[in-house]
Amino acid sequence: MSISITRENFDQWMLPVYAPAPFIPVRGEGSRLWDQQGKEYIDFAGGIAVNALGHAHPMLCKALSEQAAKFWHTGNGYTNEPVLKLAKRLLDATFADRAFFCNSGAEANEAALKLARKYAHDTAGPQKSGIVAFKNAFHGRTLFTVSAGGQPAYSQDFAPLPPEIRHAVYNDLASARELINDDTCAVIVEPIQGEGGVLPATTAFLQGLRELCDRHHALLIFDEVQTGVGRTGELYAYMHYGVTPDVLTTAKALGGGFPIGAMLTTETFGHVMNVGTHGTTYGGNPLAGAVAGAVLDIVNTRETLDGVKQRHQWLTEQLTALNNRYHLFSEIRGLGLLIGCQLATEHTGSAKQIAQLAATEGAMVLIAGANVVRFAPALNISEEEIRTGLARFARACEKFIAGSSS
Ligand SMILES: *Cc1c(COP(=O)(O)O)cnc(C)c1O
Repeated sequence: MSISITRENFDQWMLPVYAPAPFIPVRGEGSRLWDQQGKEYIDFAGGIAVNALGHAHPMLCKALSEQAAKFWHTGNGYTNEPVLKLAKRLLDATFADRAFFCNSGAEANEAALKLARKYAHDTAGPQKSGIVAFKNAFHGRTLFTVSAGGQPAYSQDFAPLPPEIRHAVYNDLASARELINDDTCAVIVEPIQGEGGVLPATTAFLQGLRELCDRHHALLIFDEVQTGVGRTGELYAYMHYGVTPDVLTTAKALGGGFPIGAMLTTETFGHVMNVGTHGTTYGGNPLAGAVAGAVLDIVNTRETLDGVKQRHQWLTEQLTALNNRYHLFSEIRGLGLLIGCQLATEHTGSAKQIAQLAATEGAMVLIAGANVVRFAPALNISEEEIRTGLARFARACEKFIAGSSS
């Protein structure tokens, strides 16, 4: 059966939980993508901070196809070499002693929250079940993680929600202090709130959370699903801040586009989980293990990580120059290749429109809420791709200004 596919098919056949762009990408290379009509785009979206090495990276294609020709899956009744090699790489590179693999960020956070509850129940008793999270946080879409997330719009339709989760104000230590007590089993926080608008934590805030967790014997969980795997110019953002969590979750860029997530923790906390307490069919499968191993080999080098800092400079300098012309943004912020452009008040609510205009001009950008245009490109995007893409983005900004003043 041969059928010709159009964007309208999405609206006819798919559960309408997304509103995808009007074009359908069919091929990619590096930070360029082409749609069904052959139109070219520069990809500043990176599959939402996922495609760490761009599209069709030769080393990732090789890792995937070599493993694909060996075996794909056995289930967790058998372990495999690629996932064990990946675990060793992650443990050697971080504070952690133990790794659990799954398939997404939400699952990694789900595992982290379950581990925190079990550790507290085993060591202190059932009353120690409180979870403190933050307003505007995003931790995934399972019922537990969407409840931990701080955007009621994403969770309220699915009530009743898991209890004992409370939300403090991000970057406000006093508000966290009010909620964290001896009945708290975990504090979960993003070192940079990604979906919430690309808002970096202050060092004092993360240090303060570390102290509060130590005082009240609560686990500090860093959700590094968006900030991890080189995104900030360090392998994990906690290294940038110099504040070490008890549990770290990572996904998105870990597989460079192949689905994989992981929860990392120490021996002390890891040992409360035993055979049968948690699991997932596909978690730690050899395909994902092989691809993520290749991603880490390339990303966890000084060359790639310093390259992220260099690219941050190229992007922010050019965005600042562009903004001096168009005065769209009140702030350009973020670390490494996670950059948010906050719209000035007179352009409130226009992020989506600007992103759509950018796509029309041949540049893919993300939004983070209604008022932030977000850039999360591949860590190896070239200087030429940045220049070409931002020239297209500038044309979109010009059209937006022309349209909004007429
Ligand atoms: C994307 C994201 C998640 C959810 O990851 P999925 O793979 O979509 O489940 C969780 N936390 C943060 C910080 C994220 O950016």
